[in-house]
Amino acid sequence: MNVAVVLYTSDLRLHDHPPLRAALSSSAQVVPLFVRDPAVSAPPNRLAFLADCLAALDAGLRSRGGRLVVRSGDPVAATMALVREADADEVHMAAGVSAYAHAREERLREALEAEGRRFHVHDAVITAVAPGAVTPSGSSGSDHFAVFTPYHRRWSEHPLRAAAPAPRAVPVPDAIRSEPLPERAAVTGTSPGLAPGGESEARRLLARWLRSGIDRYPETHDDLAGDATSRLSPHLHFGTLSPAEAVHRARAAGGPGAEAFVRQLCWRDFHHQVLAARPAAAAADYRDRGDRWRTGPDAEEETLAWKEGRTGYPVVDAAMRQLAHEGWMHNRGRLLVASFLTKTLYVDWRVGARHFMDLLVDGDLANNQLNWQWVAGTGTDTRPNRVLNPVRQGRRYDPDGGYVHRWVPELAGLPAPRVHEPWRLPGLERAGYDYPDPLVGLADGLDRFRAGRGAGPEPG
Ligand code: FAD
Repeated sequence: MNVAVVLYTSDLRLHDHPPLRAALSSSAQVVPLFVRDPAVSAPPNRLAFLADCLAALDAGLRSRGGRLVVRSGDPVAATMALVREADADEVHMAAGVSAYAHAREERLREALEAEGRRFHVHDAVITAVAPGAVTPSGSSGSDHFAVFTPYHRRWSEHPLRAAAPAPRAVPVPDAIRSEPLPERAAVTGTSPGLAPGGESEARRLLARWLRSGIDRYPETHDDLAGDATSRLSPHLHFGTLSPAEAVHRARAAGGPGAEAFVRQLCWRDFHHQVLAARPAAAAADYRDRGDRWRTGPDAEEETLAWKEGRTGYPVVDAAMRQLAHEGWMHNRGRLLVASFLTKTLYVDWRVGARHFMDLLVDGDLANNQLNWQWVAGTGTDTRPNRVLNPVRQGRRYDPDGGYVHRWVPELAGLPAPRVHEPWRLPGLERAGYDYPDPLVGLADGLDRFRAGRGAGPEPG
């Protein structure tokens, strides 16, 4: 009897899953495998969310007559051991994006081919459009788009495969043993407000979003207090939701909300195609601006205050406290705290990106590192010296102060717009609020940036 192994990575779903469908159509039995790889760092929030996703995948497979097989160790060695145990003819998996994923695929290909077994790597599982599927035309000859707008145009015209339903049955050979699944309850150090994971939860969120969120997205996506974005990012990161299916279903919903939402999904693919073409951009400047980032005890102390949400800029502190509490932060918050760290404190974007990766439940190498670079001006932003002013950002995107009141309770009694500049309160009133003074004045921050980068900052 033919057996195929489906190696799961960041695609933990049954719906719209080309590797599983291909394995089921070529083989009588399938082994769905997840390898817990010690080389892939998973801080507590993502570990807990992953445990939910694996439990949901296992439950979905069991309701179709199968189950998930979990093993630990080097993914190539663990997959090859399983392949031999099951005497599988072929392995299917989703194409990865990072340098690590590419190397893993190559090692697995060599090991399988050496034993005369087949290896199928499926594109457009982790992204809606595969990296490299659209490239700049004309004389540039580049292997990827470095600017979003032309990428978006071409991406929008690119045909997407139809989203496939989940299979009805997944027959798994009886003899294959699995390690126990990791348990969410066993993970310590998670954020108290961490969201639940799993494919059913992803599908419930998507359905709710299409029913009652997406229509108002163009007006509300920057409203910090309104919290009116889809919150689908962790599901897209772990693959409990297919990005192609999300695009199809949003387009079917129609209207300006759908267009704006699909554009954000395109941003996700954009960053993935940059990382796939330039894997070094995970750690090195995509565009070197000659920065001489601040280091030393003062910079370290200020970075700690930033991490702990006590910079003295209420909207920055609110966003950093949301991150600690939920393992998630509103996109507008991410933009302004990243600008504050890199352009006002003038601290290296890698320091902030590391902290985000330690806490974000959607922490994703492509999206995180390249968004940080976009804000720092070392990435694909066409205005690299733009500096966001946290007071203006607060007034604009938290006009009633609801976001600050929620996350910085020390200032709950202070109405907007004054809540965005508590240091301007008269002495006696100021003394009533147990909240720090700004770490650095905004003008001094601009001077540091100007001196370090050797460029004139541009207001954002
Ligand atoms: P929605 O507004 O509902 O958008 C829908 C989906 O589109 C998101 O789930 C996400 O997959 C995608 N998307 C939206 N904005 C972006 C964007 N700017 N870049 C790429 N994809 C986008 N997103 C991550 O998924 N993981 C990260 O590690 C991450 N780090 C970031 C770091 C910084 C400094 C910044 C500025 C942004 C980062 N983002 C990251 C992008 C964005 O902030 C989140 O995707 C978004 O806030 C998630 O919330 P949502 O699902 O409600 O988004």
